[in-house]
Parts: sequence; C-alpha cells; structure tokens
Amino acid sequence: MSKIEPAKIYQAAENYRDYSAKALSELVKIPSLSGDEEKLIRFLEKEFKNNGASEITVDKFGNILAKIGNGKPVIAYDAHIDTVDIGQKELWNFEPFSGDIRDGKVWGRGASDQKGGMASMLTAVKILSDLEIELPFTLYFVGSVLEEDCDGLCWQYIIKEDKIVPDLVILTEPTDGNIYRGHRGRMEIEIVAKGVSCHGSAPERGENAIYKLAPIIAAVEKLNERLAYDSFLGKGTLAASRVRSNSPSLCAVADMAALYIDRRLTAGETPQSAVKELESLPEVKSANAKVVIPDYDHPSWRGTRYPVPKTYPTWALDEKHKFVIAADKTYRELFNGKPVIDKWTFSTNGVATMGMFNIPTIGFGPGQEKLAHAPNEYCAIDDLVRCAAFYAAYPWIAIA
Ligand SMILES: [Zn+2]
Repeated sequence: MSKIEPAKIYQAAENYRDYSAKALSELVKIPSLSGDEEKLIRFLEKEFKNNGASEITVDKFGNILAKIGNGKPVIAYDAHIDTVDIGQKELWNFEPFSGDIRDGKVWGRGASDQKGGMASMLTAVKILSDLEIELPFTLYFVGSVLEEDCDGLCWQYIIKEDKIVPDLVILTEPTDGNIYRGHRGRMEIEIVAKGVSCHGSAPERGENAIYKLAPIIAAVEKLNERLAYDSFLGKGTLAASRVRSNSPSLCAVADMAALYIDRRLTAGETPQSAVKELESLPEVKSANAKVVIPDYDHPSWRGTRYPVPKTYPTWALDEKHKFVIAADKTYRELFNGKPVIDKWTFSTNGVATMGMFNIPTIGFGPGQEKLAHAPNEYCAIDDLVRCAAFYAAYPWIAIA
C-alpha cells in the first residue's frame, strides 16, 4: 500500500472524531425530505470545498458529486441525503432535527439512514486531502437524492445522463459494522380486472370486476408460499398492499377492481419473471386481468422528471470478487478483526448500480439498519470514525 499506513489513516480519522460528530449534527439539523433536498445540497457544496474536493458538480437531477484524485480504479462512495419524515412526533423522546451530540452518539432523523455515511465521507475527503499528494485513483463522493421515494433512480440518472460509470460503488447505508454485498430486489405490481357496470338492482346485467378479482387475490396469497428461495438472499415474497375499485355509483356493479402487490425478488427472480408468473395464473387468465408495473414519475428538487418503472432488481456481488476481498482486507488491517460479510434486509441504490448496470457494489456504513425510519434514531460516533478510516484507506488497498 505504498507509503500509506492503515494505522496512520485510522489515527487521522480518530483525530477528526469531533469534526465527524459535528458534521453529522449539522446534516441532521437541515431537514431533507425526499424531493426537498436543496438546502442540504448547498451546505454540502461548501463543506466538500472546505475539505479539499477539487471538482464539485450538482447535476440536473439534483445529486451532488465531489471528485478527488485521478486514475484507476474509479470508485464512487454513495450516500443518499434524503430522509423519510419523522412519523408520529409523540414517539420521539427528543426534537427529531436537533442533531444532539450526547452519550457518544449523534441523535435525530437520518442519523443512521443515512446522513452518518455522508459525515464519514466528508471526513474521508479531509483525510485524503491532508496527505497533499496526487491520488493515483479517482474518487467520487456522491450525495444522491430521492432515494427514499425511488431507490436507484438517482443512479440511473448519474450513469445514463451524467455518463459517470465507476468501477466500484461503495454504498454507505448503515451496515451494523458489517460489510454487505447484496440484498433482495423489489418491485410494485398491480393486477387490474375489468368488468361491465350496470344498475345494482339488477346485477345479472353486468360483469362485476370485484368478483373477478376475488379468486385472483386468493391465488396470489397461495403463490407467495411457492416462491424461490436462495441461501444468501432468502426467499422471494409477495404481499397484497391495496385493493381499489371503481363503479359509476355505490348502487352499481363495479367495472374495475385492482390488487396492488409489493413483490420482493430473490436470486434468479427478475421483474420480467415475476410478471410472467402472475400472468400465467389460471385465475388471472380466466378473468382476462392485466398485470401492470406502475411508473415512478415525481419531480426532483430541481424540477427534473425522469419516469421509470417501479422495478428494483436483485443484486449480489460474489464473495470472492476482488473488491469484496479488498474490503475484507481493509477491515482486517484497520480494525484487527474479521468482518462479517452479509446482506441488507432493506433496499438501496445498489438496485441500479449493480442490479441494472452490473457495476460491482459493496456496502459499509455507520449506524444500524434497525434504526432506519424508526423514532429516536441515532448513530454512534465510533461508527463515524471507523467508516471515515475505511473510506480513506480502501482505495490504497484496492490498488495494492
Ligand atoms: Zn437509506
């Protein structure tokens, strides 16, 4: 690893402990719900510049990309900087956007999911800039937007429109101190049955779409039990999440009924195979029902619309992949221990980077997955220090 010693990098991250905590506190204090991230992006523009990033871009979608170094490989660190809302205020023991620093933790919405990852990235830029040498690799530090609403959309934009295609993406979502290399995919599906309306007093004159849908709902419930299983990613699942219908009045036969489904995809299952599977159910065929994938089409904070189908493909990077091995080695050299190599339960921007574009992707991030979207969210400052060290050390070990 040339002249860069892991122990020195860890020491530098330790020296920046207070900076990392303060940075996360500032990030939490600026609310950034999905679609409303501008204020935080402007803060990051300044912060990246202060920390020594040479090239900072806010793309037309609203993502911020800070670049340092020159050479191969090109590694992108990704932190989505939007958060979900706070939910029921009564469930919080403190002000959700206070960014309090106490008991070795930073508290507030987004601390774990996943402004902690961004705080560690900011510190990593500082550590690498302090070296005052030409970095022999290219690093992008990306603050991506709208992830909570449509995971991966920000990266579909970066890859297809900004035309930035890294050799590796490191997701900084919370990993409970582990290194992650995949998760199940997901998609949303609606099964729509059509009927013919007529007056409710003479139902025999029409065709009731609700009755057509009823056997489909039962068949979908049974289908869940037969879905594929994978030893690493777990089982594919299917859950009914909404039923809607239409009729000219509440005294009429329904002419449309639809079942909305949350589908989780395991290894070997694709959005296409999941649709085919539903289309081939006898109950769907005999009702002549349509299986539809809805689009996501909401503007980003810059007003950019980039409609995409609500499909979020499964991904898993081979545990023997050189970038996973480099992550394992980085962990061992920095922390003198053996990492757990595992997977997320939730979904991340990896659905685009690796699921759609096959760019090797791994995860290492501060915080805990179970705190994501939960009240009383926090992130341990120790995690911030370790992750900052990891982000600054990893490229040196990857090129060694
Ligand atoms: Zn997240």
